[in-house]
Amino acid sequence: MKVAIIGGGVAGCATAYYLSKAGHEVTLFERDSLASHASGFALGGINPVIPGAREPEYKAFSDYSIGLHRGLAQELADVVGGDINLIRKPSVKLVRDEAEGNELRLVYEEHATEYGYDMRWLGLGELSHIDARISSDVIGGLYIGEAFELDPYKLTLSLWQAAESRGAQMINKEVTEISVTGNRVTGVVTEGGVFEADAVAAAAGPWSGGLLGSLGIDVPVSPLRGQIIRLDAPSPPMKLSLWWDHDYATTKSDGLTWIGTTEEEVGFDDRTTDEARDRIITSAVSILPYLEDAELVQQTACLRPMTPDKMPIIDGSVGIEGLVVSTGGGRQGIALGPAMGIATAALATGGNSPVDVSAFSLGRFA
Ligand SMILES: Cc1cc2nc3c(=O)[nH]c(=O)nc-3n(C[C@H](O)[C@H](O)[C@H](O)COP(=O)(O)OP(=O)(O)OC[C@H]3O[C@@H](n4cnc5c(N)ncnc54)[C@H](O)[C@@H]3O)c2cc1C
Repeated sequence: MKVAIIGGGVAGCATAYYLSKAGHEVTLFERDSLASHASGFALGGINPVIPGAREPEYKAFSDYSIGLHRGLAQELADVVGGDINLIRKPSVKLVRDEAEGNELRLVYEEHATEYGYDMRWLGLGELSHIDARISSDVIGGLYIGEAFELDPYKLTLSLWQAAESRGAQMINKEVTEISVTGNRVTGVVTEGGVFEADAVAAAAGPWSGGLLGSLGIDVPVSPLRGQIIRLDAPSPPMKLSLWWDHDYATTKSDGLTWIGTTEEEVGFDDRTTDEARDRIITSAVSILPYLEDAELVQQTACLRPMTPDKMPIIDGSVGIEGLVVSTGGGRQGIALGPAMGIATAALATGGNSPVDVSAFSLGRFA
């Protein structure tokens, strides 16, 4: 089939990857450059959902995607020869508050063996063995062994390069309209004219709502700005990624310590701000006081595609045959990217998704 994909973020590029792998003719439309928005500037933490923390369908989908990630790093290296810097990096969810600590301990006690996770409760003593620089305000943390980190820009680009090596084409233009005849999608429109296609996958991140609204399809996805600070921090690098409240700190493969983040509802404004910089640094220093001596190297901001229930939208039955909507990765869009791609590719070509996406239909917002 001839499939047009709108959006060159992780959702669009993963869709291109799986479609081209299955032998379909793929054309991807990106108005800026590939991975030039959230998919290129995310942290790249791939953390399994803590049991009981999210809806079971979401957890199953996330686990499936993490399984795909584990195979993808090698597959991508074989096809395009690049390294997406996927490493296993345990994460610890830190707590400073007794009530929150009790809640997390309960999760650990109830579910530790249920999912076969390497999950442990660590007291401050054990935490300080892992990193003696953690503040003594921290009372403990939930350690998750099977967590990963990767370079989201390299992942997105490698997915695209693998698709391209199988014949996929990119058109560097904005899609202004999705063409529909009767009840069927017939292609997309750019300033260069009409491009005909048998199916269209709309993976336009937080911009998906505007694009699909003109077809009368209400996609409740909105931009949620997040900012990250990259620091040149005193040695040694952090061996684990640390998470607390909405924030985190980890030393990435570039040798820098990345700290974040914010959740800001400011529309499509993706500029960095001094307020966010100060808040993120204050929060990180409260957990890791040694970061006071770090030097700021870079500050970035980008927009997450967020839905009201924080679950993705992956739907091939939106009332127009051949049209699939794929967005709403939210704070986990990199982790969910491969599963969003494989499901979207299957739905666009009239197949069944290999992973259950029934909980991610647009109909749930009706
Ligand atoms: C600070 C921050 C940290 C994050 N950290 C993590 C993390 O650690 N782990 C994790 O799993 N996730 C993380 N995320 C979330 C993740 O980055 C996003 O959920 C994910 O990248 C969204 O991918 P996407 O492909 O849906 O959208 P995008 O990456 O936004 O891609 C959409 C693309 O569509 C293009 N486009 C839009 N409209 C059109 C049009 N009309 N025509 C042509 N092209 C169009 C845009 O130019 C854009 O390139 C983070 C996000 C932020 C902001």
